[in-house]
Amino acid sequence: MQLRPYQKDAVSAVIKHFRHHQSPALLVLPTGAGKSVIIAELARIARGRVLVLTHVQELVEQNHAKFVAMGQQADIYSAGLGLKQASAKVVFASIQSLAASTDAKHQAFSMVVVDECHRINLDGDSQYKQVFDALTTANPKVKTLGLTATPYRLDKGWIYQKHANGTLRSAEPKPFEHCIFELPIGQLIKQKFLTPANIVDGAVASLLLPAEGEESESFTIAQGRATTLICEHLVRLSPDFNGILIFAASVAHGNEILSRLPSEEAALITGETKSRDREAIINDFKAKKLKFLVNVSVLTTGFDAPHIDLIAILRRTDSVALYQQMVGRGLRLADGKEECLVLDYAGNGYSLFAPEVGEPKPKSDSQVVDVPCPKCGHTNHFWGKMDENGCLLEHFGRRCQGLVDQFDDLDSEEVSPPSTQQQQCDFRFRFKECPDCLAENDIAARNCHQCNKPLVDPDKRLKEVLKLKDYMVLRCSGLSLSLSQLKSGQEAINVTWHDEDGAELSQRYGFATPGQKGAFYHNFVRMHLKAPGQPLRLKDANDVVNNANLFRHPDFVVGRKEKWGWKVIDCLFDYQGRYRKADSAY
Ligand SMILES: [Zn+2]
Ligand SMILES: [Zn+2]
Repeated sequence: MQLRPYQKDAVSAVIKHFRHHQSPALLVLPTGAGKSVIIAELARIARGRVLVLTHVQELVEQNHAKFVAMGQQADIYSAGLGLKQASAKVVFASIQSLAASTDAKHQAFSMVVVDECHRINLDGDSQYKQVFDALTTANPKVKTLGLTATPYRLDKGWIYQKHANGTLRSAEPKPFEHCIFELPIGQLIKQKFLTPANIVDGAVASLLLPAEGEESESFTIAQGRATTLICEHLVRLSPDFNGILIFAASVAHGNEILSRLPSEEAALITGETKSRDREAIINDFKAKKLKFLVNVSVLTTGFDAPHIDLIAILRRTDSVALYQQMVGRGLRLADGKEECLVLDYAGNGYSLFAPEVGEPKPKSDSQVVDVPCPKCGHTNHFWGKMDENGCLLEHFGRRCQGLVDQFDDLDSEEVSPPSTQQQQCDFRFRFKECPDCLAENDIAARNCHQCNKPLVDPDKRLKEVLKLKDYMVLRCSGLSLSLSQLKSGQEAINVTWHDEDGAELSQRYGFATPGQKGAFYHNFVRMHLKAPGQPLRLKDANDVVNNANLFRHPDFVVGRKEKWGWKVIDCLFDYQGRYRKADSAY
């Protein structure tokens, strides 16, 4: 069997990793990348015995079939498939059957490959934990390789710690230590291994709906009226399409959609659908007896119907990878298929080429942006905003996720090179400064990481000052800058914070001497930048005032009454608590 270039690269990455490391490794491959071919190649070239584990019997069967098609022999251990053989060099097994086995799981394998490994749960006495414990006892040097298309889960976060591109995803332990290879879905399209997608976003998709009075304008996905219009639209389009896959937000939503589609041509699959019914529905859909297939977050992985040429997304998601998974269902190559139409009625608005951020989207119009670290040069992917020229306007990154070498024992007298260990770069784009030691802390930190003193909790602080006389709290909705003068006649900049009702607090910063400019930068600029950590060139006071849009406003500004007027004593950013924030003016 001829391997595609990226499949060869993936196999090489595995060999290279396990030659030097024992730690569990991960391959991230979108559906359509041919991961069963990669599994088969690894199993073929492995010197020791290989166990391929999955959680569903369909995948056990599929992976085994591809392996046999390569002219190889292997056993199947899956009660669901009626086969319990585990003596060949290569064994394909379902996790349930293996966990329940008394002897099969105690054999010595040199490598375990876990397909759809985002399902791995190593907590407590889970089936995976039982099996891994038994396998490790049988061979303490057993190596673990995971394969998935979705390494980030909204409920559990990243399933690995470090990416081969030098990104730290999590400081906490995860089932996999290294992601050693990742193939973005966009590259598979570029290389023509997948069909291109024609994505029509929410606003435009809703315009395709018939205009009936004002109702179609106040379009929301949750409203029954909108669902009716969307279904009518899909039915109208359907004669031109072979297979239509619809993603619903909930079981109730799925049922509502189903009730508005021609009953003889449509079916619904949810997590509650019995496996026999599910199989029958999928077979009818593949045989084109059904044109519409509605599903509630079950057909995002491991489901393969190449004839799908229309995808309708009626659910929102915060995960770029999950969105790409949904679209990916329609990108398999099929005869006569030139592209897949994707109607994103929910207006998710992600690109197929964007990487996963791993954080909930902070604003509805946020996009994935590249943010280089000024300290280590690592390119971070954060939520943010770019202008039409691709210039960064804003980002929400906190700390650089780059991995940098830490040299231990720099002063040691050993001749051999100092041992290096990779650690997260310590540059912070946004931070909370410790008032005592000036260390930069994460904006959510409770105690200073350097001196351990408690840090200001914005919620507590707000509660406190609201009780005090002679304090004013501004629910800030914007800021403006203007040129001013100090009493001495020196040039100055006025910063004014506004609330929703016209109340304001302001502060004047001298801008004549280097010391004054430094203080302005320290006290105002660095905390208020929308895109911190990026090159900033403001040549004079005029330039600063004309570029007020570079600065974000705090959520709350606290002022204290002095003899001469109000003095700003606190700007509270990134507030999370019970007080309502102003609707942002930007
Ligand atoms: Zn960095
Ligand atoms: Zn401190």
